[in-house]
Amino acid sequence: MTIDIQRAAQLDRESLFHPFTALNDLYRDGPNVMASGKGLHVTDIHGNTYLDGMAGLWCVNLGYGRQDIVDAIAEQSARLSFFHTFNSMSTDVAIECADALLKRAPVPMSRVFFGASGSDANETQIKLIWYYNNLLGRPQKKKIIARWNAYHGSAVMTAGLTGLPGMHALFDLPLGPILHVTAPHHYRKAAEGMTEREFSRSLAVELEELIAREGADTIAAFFAEPVMGAGGLIATPEGYWEEITPILKRHDILLVMDEVVSGFGRLGTYWGAQTYGLEPDLITAAKGVTGGYFPMSVCYISPKLWDVFEGNRDAAGLFGHGYTYSAHPVGAAAALATLRAIDEDRVVDHVAQVGPYLHERMRAVLGDDPMVGEIRGRGLMIGIELVKDRATKEAFPMAQRVGRQVLKAAADRGLITRALGDTLVFAPPLVIDRESIDALVTIFKAAIDAVRADVA
Ligand code: PMP
Repeated sequence: MTIDIQRAAQLDRESLFHPFTALNDLYRDGPNVMASGKGLHVTDIHGNTYLDGMAGLWCVNLGYGRQDIVDAIAEQSARLSFFHTFNSMSTDVAIECADALLKRAPVPMSRVFFGASGSDANETQIKLIWYYNNLLGRPQKKKIIARWNAYHGSAVMTAGLTGLPGMHALFDLPLGPILHVTAPHHYRKAAEGMTEREFSRSLAVELEELIAREGADTIAAFFAEPVMGAGGLIATPEGYWEEITPILKRHDILLVMDEVVSGFGRLGTYWGAQTYGLEPDLITAAKGVTGGYFPMSVCYISPKLWDVFEGNRDAAGLFGHGYTYSAHPVGAAAALATLRAIDEDRVVDHVAQVGPYLHERMRAVLGDDPMVGEIRGRGLMIGIELVKDRATKEAFPMAQRVGRQVLKAAADRGLITRALGDTLVFAPPLVIDRESIDALVTIFKAAIDAVRADVA
């Protein structure tokens, strides 16, 4: 590092426009400047080390500083640092990577399309869906349904799909034919006394009514994360997909699974689609495909769409979409090393063991805590929603920023979490061991205890 440690914070504030950051927070107590990472831990420029309970941003699935991935990146950079895939060009490594990804798909898939981020991949999905319906001669079938609290990206269309009003308000979004339905969050959205199954039924009724109102011939696709991540860490209630998928099938609405977080093992199966027994028409992946070592995203395209693309190739001519860094060879090399490591280290089986352990430990330590309203999630995704009153589910006043206080108390004790409002979430590297899970839970409890007196 060449910058002066004493000046780093000031220089950051003077030079870097941070994503998803309130300027007031940054100016008051930021930034936190990281400098290195190894395994489950990162170290800041002052030498403080943290257990990274969020795997960066749900992406560093195999931990930091893995030599096999570093070597793959270095070798590929030296051999061929860049070449593209436009105009029938390709690279050996991109071909190998596409093939390796297709072999790992949860349901038969025909092709993969590469990008560099989850957002650009979901933008691609929207375009593929529109392209498909245009080729089929039904240009009116274009609307896309997403759920409130969904996170599908922050580009113009995908920020609209994302069901977080804070990402719409000052950007004139959503733009285009986007519809939202209720988040499948039983704790917050179900009527008093409703069982999970009844709640799922009510969500199905809502979806049916929306489709009837809009006309099925205008609705193209339904986007969903298997477990909602950035919108509050929400796992679907019992019976949800049994209710929803037949409706989509009946109205010829494509199912797009956004597996940007859940793909490559996070839920204890290779794909979230497998956890829930789903057969998506399109799958979006990113993050874990390279364990965060290189920006890369993947759109999986099922035969249902691909056959239409291939069958109409004379009429379609050029496929007018793509990114400079689609199938970047260094990303492809990073992905190949990552996929190999996931297999060789039996990472998915490991998550199937330690995921339930994380939930068990969290429930044992915090299940009866008066500040904890709900502990939720699945696999190595867990959210702990803090409330003022457990009995009535009353939230803390927003201005109190309890989630942020706990986050800071955890960081002071060497643990990184993330606050989605007053829901604290963890999605640690998939290679986390039981001992580190114990440490995570213990530190988190201490952080809650530290702010308890202030917020009571
Ligand atoms: N989909 C999901 C489910 C995500 O969690 C994210 C990012 N957290 C995205 C899409 C967007 O990915 P990116 O930030 O790489 O654009």
